[in-house]
Amino acid sequence: ELIALAIRAADRAHPIVSPTSWPAERVKRYDVMVVGAGFAGAVMAERLARDGGKRVLVVDRRPHVAGNAFDRLDDAGVLIHQYGPHIFHTNSSDIVDYLSRFTEWRSYEHRVLADIDGLRVPMPINRTTLNLLYGLDLASDAEAEAFLASKAEPVEPIVTSADVVISKVGRELYETFFQGYTRKQWGMDPSELDKSVTARVPTRTSTDDRYFNDSFQAMPRDGYTKMFERMLDHPNIDLLLGVDFEEAREAYPHDHLVFTGPIDEYFGHRYGKLPYRSLEFRHETHDCEWFQDVAVVNFPAESAPHTRITEYKHLTGQTAPRTSLTYEIPSATGDPYYPIPRPENQALFKRYEALALGLSGVTFVGRLATYRYYNMDQVVGQALATYRRMASSSAEPAYP
Ligand code: FAD
Ligand code: UDP
Repeated sequence: ELIALAIRAADRAHPIVSPTSWPAERVKRYDVMVVGAGFAGAVMAERLARDGGKRVLVVDRRPHVAGNAFDRLDDAGVLIHQYGPHIFHTNSSDIVDYLSRFTEWRSYEHRVLADIDGLRVPMPINRTTLNLLYGLDLASDAEAEAFLASKAEPVEPIVTSADVVISKVGRELYETFFQGYTRKQWGMDPSELDKSVTARVPTRTSTDDRYFNDSFQAMPRDGYTKMFERMLDHPNIDLLLGVDFEEAREAYPHDHLVFTGPIDEYFGHRYGKLPYRSLEFRHETHDCEWFQDVAVVNFPAESAPHTRITEYKHLTGQTAPRTSLTYEIPSATGDPYYPIPRPENQALFKRYEALALGLSGVTFVGRLATYRYYNMDQVVGQALATYRRMASSSAEPAYP
């Protein structure tokens, strides 16, 4: 029997608690139930409550807020990311301004090395990468560009994740840095994936070795979970953690639903399962202060089961005598982490989207619900835009 209890925001010392440890309190009716306490759900809940004055219940099947961005102190006292490294970067000052209401920031520029048979070189490929890998002395952007041009193979039209890399850097560098990594990460060859996947990673002729190009790159100063706690800390928001939507949907009547879980799951997989790629996260603590030179080292060779190792203290600036790491090992089964960008998957998503558009009273937001390979900032932007649309077209008492 369901002993799901709504946690009144005003009553809780800490938002992150097991709902069963709180006394029963049934709210008559919520204006909105939000499924998922990740970026999509938390932004929607915050806006609906604080700006819209709605009574909101947030439900998440996990025992914590923050979705995949959840971070926590581990046994060594190191702040780790439970679901792999999350680095905030964006070009949108609106999104920074919005999140800055709930956090201060630690300036951080992400740097990644790729391990090529033990040689560690900058990734994305830049001039330093080429010089180290080929024993060259390319001294300018123009020289690096000429070198890459001599390697590049024209591909027309550029459709897949193989095309986009081979046309820029040629087959050899493609095989060294992209093919094995992608086969591991996605369980398929880059030639089977949309070009947008590997196009996320730039190629440079300069010696800029930052992973991202965005104008704003930072980490929430006290971590993601703290930022989410502040977002959700509002008297109009109740939180129900460790409870599945299926259990909560009847128990807590609501006028409107915001769903941020997998869209195919919402519709009972009526047209078959949408493929999502999963990962196993192996967390380790080592008895040394530092393990590697940068936050993330990528392992493109197929001989290693993991794609990357993250050492968190580089990201957070935390000091501690020991250090904690996460290995990411891709997997076909497990929690859905990545929508898989392929034309047939997009076509299947479109069929679910058509069902969604035919519903009134339900809004789908987020990476899983809109089947988009979105970064955190894009999800925040999508949720803010969705809220604005809802608010401007709201016909009381329910949203259309
Ligand atoms: P989620 O965070 O997945 O939240 C959805 C929530 O809904 C989950 O907590 C889930 O438990 C809950 N839920 C689902 N279904 C149900 C149900 N039926 N009942 C109850 N609860 C349910 N982005 C960046 O910008 N920078 C990065 O460096 C970065 N690194 C990443 C690394 C990894 C390994 C992964 C997987 C993602 C990374 N991302 C990164 C992307 C980022 O995680 C997402 O953009 C963001 O977390 C998506 O937020 P969301 O709310 O849409 O989904
Ligand atoms: N990629 C790769 N080699 C790398 C880094 C990335 O082949 O060293 C490819 C791979 O297909 C990956 C994609 O580029 O899934 C996007 O990389 P990103 O680092 O953006 O992935 P995420 O952080 O989202 O897992």
